[in-house]
Amino acid sequence: MDRKVRLRFAPSPTGPLHMGGVRTALFNYLFARKNNGKFILRIEDTDQTRYVQGAEDYIIESLKWCGIEIDEGVEEGGPYGPYRQSDRKEIYKEFAEKLIESGNAYYAFDTPEELDAMRERLKEEKNSIQQYNAVTRGEMRNSLTLSEEEANRLLKEIPYVVRFKMPEDKEVIVEDIIRGTVKVNTNQLDDKVLFKSDGMPTYHLANIVDDHLMKISHVIRGEEWLPSLPLHVMLYRALGWDDTKPEFAHLPLLLKPSGKGKLSKRDGDALGFPVFPLEWTDPKTGEVSRGYREDGYFPEAFNNMLAFLGWNPGTEEEIMSMRELVNVFDLNKVHKAGAKFDQEKAKWFNHKYLIGKSNEKLANLYQKELKAKDIYVDDSLVLKVVSLIKERANFVSDFWEQSYFFFQAPTEYDPKVVKKRWKENTPEILYGLKSKLEELETFGHDDIEKAVQNFLEGKEFGMGQVMNPLRLTLVGAGIGPGVTEIAELLGKEETLKRMQAGIDNIQRQ
Ligand code: GLU
Repeated sequence: MDRKVRLRFAPSPTGPLHMGGVRTALFNYLFARKNNGKFILRIEDTDQTRYVQGAEDYIIESLKWCGIEIDEGVEEGGPYGPYRQSDRKEIYKEFAEKLIESGNAYYAFDTPEELDAMRERLKEEKNSIQQYNAVTRGEMRNSLTLSEEEANRLLKEIPYVVRFKMPEDKEVIVEDIIRGTVKVNTNQLDDKVLFKSDGMPTYHLANIVDDHLMKISHVIRGEEWLPSLPLHVMLYRALGWDDTKPEFAHLPLLLKPSGKGKLSKRDGDALGFPVFPLEWTDPKTGEVSRGYREDGYFPEAFNNMLAFLGWNPGTEEEIMSMRELVNVFDLNKVHKAGAKFDQEKAKWFNHKYLIGKSNEKLANLYQKELKAKDIYVDDSLVLKVVSLIKERANFVSDFWEQSYFFFQAPTEYDPKVVKKRWKENTPEILYGLKSKLEELETFGHDDIEKAVQNFLEGKEFGMGQVMNPLRLTLVGAGIGPGVTEIAELLGKEETLKRMQAGIDNIQRQ
């Protein structure tokens, strides 16, 4: 069938978008762009009891941060709007009524107590399936068992729902692009509620009606929706839309780093990494959950990492921009098995994007952090510092611990390093080196290195006995890039000053 490619991401605004949700959006977006199609954002807010203030804005902001561009949606509008289900209420009612007229659905008047009693009875009778279905519907209070007059009277008087009349003992066979053939007997399925007593459709009805009316060509969503697929297919048939129903692809679950169990919203705090794209403050409890953005991830790195959860292009290549991902994305290469989330890999992606950025850009970002610490230094120094340390950092926020000593002289000296590196004769050695350095006219790291070589000639001590204590005086610890590079950046005057201060203040412990 030749049809326009139209994909939708259809989150429910029940809280912050989980990273698994962002991955679903991303895969929809990549597929849409790859096939010159449209990417639609539809807000599925028919369950009013689960509505959370701020969640819709959060979803939109998250997609924007990731660079997932929405073609049609609640803010953008579009030819098939409105794109928020609560604004489409009237539409669903009409289709629920159509299903009743065609005999594919019915009104049910059972109270919660009556439903409980039915389940209890089935349990006592040791029935493994305890649900409203072809077997039990004949014993319940609905428009199939009551007379027309009685049903019409109840419709006016008491709350009711519309249920789908699931056919008995039929084989439903559906093709899923990722999972292959899915087969279910309708006896396993129940008469799902399609329309609720509050006048709102359920997810199932609204979803099918909207996918049809919005001319969705492919439904890509999480594996947790696979059990709903047979019902959805039955609904397409019942509504006479079988020929134009979308193709389906159910994405593998995101698993905890251990591989045991689904990555849940609570895992982030427990396991020490974000599970949300952006920081989220719960409007009711005020509880704050961390986000990738606030943790210092670049959106490109986050996307790239997500794209590789459950998919890869089948080549060695891993660092890919959105454009490159679009070019190579292929639903047939999505894995069936769950994808384990690996925090170290996520950091690695960020590191790769960080070192790929220009020193100017990184210096700019670092300057902001320095200013926040009330440190005001020349861009040229920050630029040099960044070029020296970026290989050792995953995040811009790692820069400080790799480079604080460029901006402040040590006031303390790491006792472990002192113990290991500061010997009886160290002050004497450093004095010797210091006088060599004093003679230098230019203070590049090559000049310093030559001076050290020179100084070592004919001495009974080696490089380590000079360079390690020198680092200790300059840095106050055993960390950082090459010592001569550090000295060069500090400049001659500051280097000599720190050497003297070290000699004066470091006592062998
Ligand atoms: N509203 C559903 C969700 O929250 C959409 C599932 C689907 O894509 O059909 O995930």
